Amino acid sequence: MKINVERVMSDLEILNTFNTTPENGCTRFSFTIEETRAKEYIIGEMKAIGMDVWFDGVGNLHGLLKGSGENKKIVMSGSHIDTVVNGGKYDGNLGVVGALEVARTLSKNEVKRYHDYQVSIFIEEEGPHFGTNLIGSKAFCKHFSTAQSKKLKDSNGNTMYEIMKEAGYNPEDIDTISFDPSRYKAMIELHIEQGRVLDSEKKSIGIVKGIVGLKWLKVMIKGESNHAGATPMRYRLDPVVDGCKLISNIPNIVKSMDDDSIVATVGKIELFPNQTNIIPKFLEFTIDLRGINEENLLTVIDIIESQLDELKDKGFYCEIEQIAEAKAVKSDLEILDIIEDSIKSKGYSFTNLYSGANHDTSILGEYIPSAMLFVPSVNGRSHCKEEFTTKADIKVGCQVLYDTICKLIK
Ligand SMILES: [Zn+2]
Repeated sequence: MKINVERVMSDLEILNTFNTTPENGCTRFSFTIEETRAKEYIIGEMKAIGMDVWFDGVGNLHGLLKGSGENKKIVMSGSHIDTVVNGGKYDGNLGVVGALEVARTLSKNEVKRYHDYQVSIFIEEEGPHFGTNLIGSKAFCKHFSTAQSKKLKDSNGNTMYEIMKEAGYNPEDIDTISFDPSRYKAMIELHIEQGRVLDSEKKSIGIVKGIVGLKWLKVMIKGESNHAGATPMRYRLDPVVDGCKLISNIPNIVKSMDDDSIVATVGKIELFPNQTNIIPKFLEFTIDLRGINEENLLTVIDIIESQLDELKDKGFYCEIEQIAEAKAVKSDLEILDIIEDSIKSKGYSFTNLYSGANHDTSILGEYIPSAMLFVPSVNGRSHCKEEFTTKADIKVGCQVLYDTICKLIK
């Protein structure tokens, strides 16, 4: 059975009308009138095909098509409809309307459903509204509380707690959410890639093998500050000269790991005192390190530490500190096989890749066997009004999602 791509394109256009910046991309925060209207549209579509519809305690919207199995579980798909400021109309939204289109197609055909099929729309995935992301999926998995909603504030200083109340939700219900991972058989999220791999390699779809983990490090190298004119080169302990050698060697360390999921970025460098005629006293820089394999990330850090030890031997004082961390989530191997079979049976061009960005599946995947599907972002553009995915690729993404879910709910 084929999904109806015209319906999906129409859904995307309709959702894009619920938008506070219609002339300049799409802006839609959770608990706003635009988001409420968008959810009303989705609820209408869910009810039209007989889905049970409900909100959970944080305002995530769920729709369920019941299966008939005695020991049935839930197969889930979905994403988010909140956006960044002046974002695109595909990020998150495609995963929601794709999951909805799967439900419509399932409701019309004779595939026997043993398991339940659940479409879920998570609030506040993006982050700019309250300065933190993935709130809906965290609350769904019991990682976000009513007390936390009282601490988060929007740019006007109103708390998430107050804003939820104003929008007609009861934030006290966040703490009453119940989550039993054993009830879930699978979660599959369709999403735009937001990078340029698929578009550059002319593939219609990407199988996401995992969402990379992240470590943020802060490195400090302290040398000896002195007069730039009066200090001969042989008497210097200049943290810039040796620190920059270390920084420029980081790509070589990453390459030596033989793990193409690893990326490392030095995005912020600070010098003290940062003056033209003074040999700096210290150099400080950050490293954003990501990869799917925790052990490999730790090895990269070990190598950097050993190079810092060499600098210590030269007389420098060095420190390295981890300032943030997110765990990697590996996709479920059985689900990946089913996805690959679905793609190959239709002859679509595909590649395997990792997600460098976080998604609702980053949270859900810790508890539920999960996988993601990526469709190409033209020129790799995302989080801007230029964000675009072709209708042909959207059709492939939704069809693979449907074929995969058909196999999972049997
Ligand atoms: Zn997204």
